[in-house]
Amino acid sequence: MINETMYERGAESSVIREIFSYACARKAEIGADKVFDFSLGNPSVPAPAAVRESIERSLAEVPSMALHGYTPAPGLPEARAAVAASLNRRFGTSYEAGNLFMTVGAAASVSCALHALVSPGEEVIVIVPYFPEYRVWIENADAACVEVAADPETFQLPVDAIRAAITERTAAIIIDSPNNPTGVVYPRETLGALAAMLEEVNRGRQEPVYLISDEPYREITYGAEIPWVPSVYEHTVVCYSYSKSLSLPGERVGWVLVPDTMGSSDRVMAAVAGAARALGFVCAPALFQRVVIDCVDEPSDVEAYRRNRDLLCRALSEAGYTYVEPDGAFYLWVRALEEDAGAFCERARTYELLPVPSDSFGVPGWIRIGYCVAPEVIEASLPAWRALAKEYGVRA
Ligand code: PLP
Repeated sequence: MINETMYERGAESSVIREIFSYACARKAEIGADKVFDFSLGNPSVPAPAAVRESIERSLAEVPSMALHGYTPAPGLPEARAAVAASLNRRFGTSYEAGNLFMTVGAAASVSCALHALVSPGEEVIVIVPYFPEYRVWIENADAACVEVAADPETFQLPVDAIRAAITERTAAIIIDSPNNPTGVVYPRETLGALAAMLEEVNRGRQEPVYLISDEPYREITYGAEIPWVPSVYEHTVVCYSYSKSLSLPGERVGWVLVPDTMGSSDRVMAAVAGAARALGFVCAPALFQRVVIDCVDEPSDVEAYRRNRDLLCRALSEAGYTYVEPDGAFYLWVRALEEDAGAFCERARTYELLPVPSDSFGVPGWIRIGYCVAPEVIEASLPAWRALAKEYGVRA
């Protein structure tokens, strides 16, 4: 019998992907340069040259069986050791290969972490607005997604509201900083306040409330410090991918880190392995695990995103839009010019502008503009953004 829940998830699809599909069809119809697709977080910055060099070296030097064969379920020991060494250099930690499980991107990392840490019937807190797939992944772990609104002014972590939402069924909280969709970064002191609150809560519990720190945008920051979350709160599992940092979203490679410092870390890591096995996420792509070994410390081209951010922010501000100033990631969270963000996006579509309405992120009235596009796309879209604002009678 067809599984109705899965049918519904597949039939609904994601709003972001629907807009992306529309953009592809529209580009074929009227020309790619006339459509301004701000939907997906698909980096336009090319992968670093070191990625290609690594692939070419592997193709030339690694025998086929090792190159294309199964790796151990948690990944190549050398890849996990390379990631551990890189983290140790950057954050003064002492991780080893055994603290890491290579996965198929951050989607798999978060799914594995959820299945490992959350039992059916428990609750997972997300901070609104949130990456829409969190709800799908949480519900797929038979848990309830509990929404807590971010601070309405700053979009920062709402520590008191999180405290108020915690029940005895709360198993975990997902955070992502730099944040998709707002671009805010959670500073050390806010994370510290969250940690202090959770430590207090944990005193009355058998098992701690876990923090799942989803960090695909860790490297994409415009100067703000991105604290290493396990050093602030010990019960943290980190989920990472190279989709954004190395512009490799199609290659599906990332990892889950379970620090030794967290209680029952051996059991948690075994549960991550079990989740990866149950979900079919074992043996991340072998070729790209080798790329990780070679490119683990490759910097991201943040300047390209900074230029896009500055260009877009300046122009939208001049046109009368209001938005959250992003400190990281590559999304701009902009107030829609009418209450119904869906209707606003429909109107924007008549100018070939394709942002994402905020409703699937858990709030009405905003749009997300993904500015990881080529700078020419932003440049060419500016007259349309201005005309759209004018149509709503917004004064520049
Ligand atoms: N988490 C967040 C916050 C994201 O924005 C994304 C992708 O855009 C993912 C997870 C999934 O990343 P990946 O493509 O590495 O699976």
